[in-house]
Amino acid sequence: MENFAALAYLIAAVCFIMALRGLSSPESARQGLAFAMGGMALAIVTTLASPIVTSYGLIVAGIALGGGGGYYIAKKIEMTALPQLVAAFHSLVGLAAVFVAAAAFYSPEAYGIGMSGAIHLNSIIEMSLGVAIGAITFTGSIIAWGKLQGVISGKPVTFPGQHMINAAMGVGLVVLIILLCTTQSGFIFWLIVLLALILGVTMIIPIGGADMPVIVSMLNSYSGWAAAGIGFTLHNNLLIVTGALVGASGAILSYIMCKGMNRSFLNVLLGGFGGEQATGSAAATGDRTAKIGSAEDAAWIMKNASSVIIVPGYGMAVAQAQHALREMADQLKKEGVKVRYAIHPVAGRMPGHMNVLLAEASVPYDEVLELEDINRDFAQTDVVYVIGANDITNPAAKTDKSSPIYGMPVLDVDKAKTVLFVKRSMGSGYAGIDNPLFYATNTMMLLDDAKKMTEGIVKSLEH
Ligand code: NDP
Repeated sequence: MENFAALAYLIAAVCFIMALRGLSSPESARQGLAFAMGGMALAIVTTLASPIVTSYGLIVAGIALGGGGGYYIAKKIEMTALPQLVAAFHSLVGLAAVFVAAAAFYSPEAYGIGMSGAIHLNSIIEMSLGVAIGAITFTGSIIAWGKLQGVISGKPVTFPGQHMINAAMGVGLVVLIILLCTTQSGFIFWLIVLLALILGVTMIIPIGGADMPVIVSMLNSYSGWAAAGIGFTLHNNLLIVTGALVGASGAILSYIMCKGMNRSFLNVLLGGFGGEQATGSAAATGDRTAKIGSAEDAAWIMKNASSVIIVPGYGMAVAQAQHALREMADQLKKEGVKVRYAIHPVAGRMPGHMNVLLAEASVPYDEVLELEDINRDFAQTDVVYVIGANDITNPAAKTDKSSPIYGMPVLDVDKAKTVLFVKRSMGSGYAGIDNPLFYATNTMMLLDDAKKMTEGIVKSLEH
């Protein structure tokens, strides 16, 4: 039985690796998900069949409760609320790590890691690291959820001496972990939990605005390491492998997001950037009259263009305008217009947000290009159709040193002959800063819901 379980776990681990490989491209993403589901099903069945499982009552109740809740939430969730749902799920992984560590600490015999008060050194080290990472992930993810949900201000919340206090708590945590390993005291165990819970809040709360994407992927990574910690405590090799895969891929994603925003990881972690109003900066000065257009104007301009680049952003997700957008692109292609899509790495509210929506609307993958592959083409493009995007096009990132997004690479839409902005008002985006492009001479604002405006354009193109 043991050999069979080891083999099944190995197959499941390979499935998870294949899943990650599949998820690296939209073409193979479905296949990747199939591998992930297959691997997970095999892992669960193998674990349930293990001889150490002596009663199924509680397990079935747990699966019914957790699985039922998960099914209900997944069915009901709006696409736009996915980022906060992911953050909420991360918090549960962190909490699970804390619970498993507590159970193992109080009943080490049941886990085969020693006796109460005399837990093996390697196990207590693994356990204390797991509980600390789990508790940080728990409260950190709750704060991230609150910021993404709008319950807590999305702007950085800073306080005096914040970096020093965080550093002191980090050092305190290391000291407590050493103390726990030497004394195995229950009091120290709970002190670690408490300090890590506080650190989760104080670490994430100062981060906001345009830096949130990195935090989402960083907490994803933490939840993986927390799961690996549980794996060590439970002596479950597959959980260790899976946790490490999630931890490592989350860390790589954080690196990619940092690169996409031209930030160093440390710079993001130290927090306090993004979210301020760009008052008095170049972003908010100059001629403030904007040209306002209609669906008919936009249809006429695009119909007479030879090339159009579509730039989707968070507003497209809110309006669920991707299907109307695809129809508009089809109409334009019929008129002989070359249509492509430009994706910024932090567009929307989660990594790959726009790619998922465009794939859902069956937009051909070869028309969808990443920032570095298309940015040079804007200068030779007739029309850019910016749909529900804002920060990712803001030229203040290139010119205004006082801007909170200064240094972040943006899509150079301003270089095109005409820029059409579809949004509901002249208001700002997630980073809370003004976009000078709205007032540029080559910009026309199309002020309406993204779906309604795009459907209007489709109608005009049909006639
Ligand atoms: P932004 O948040 O900058 O802008 C979105 C715009 O969409 C808003 O200005 C809003 O204007 C408009 N909008 C909202 N609803 C609608 C609607 N129904 N119809 C039409 N327009 C609408 O989004 P971007 O995609 O440009 O940039 C992403 C931002 O989010 C970046 O700052 C990024 O750092 C941040 N972020 C990204 C994450 C990620 O992982 N990708 C995670 C967390 C944050 P109006 O209200 O006037 O309509």
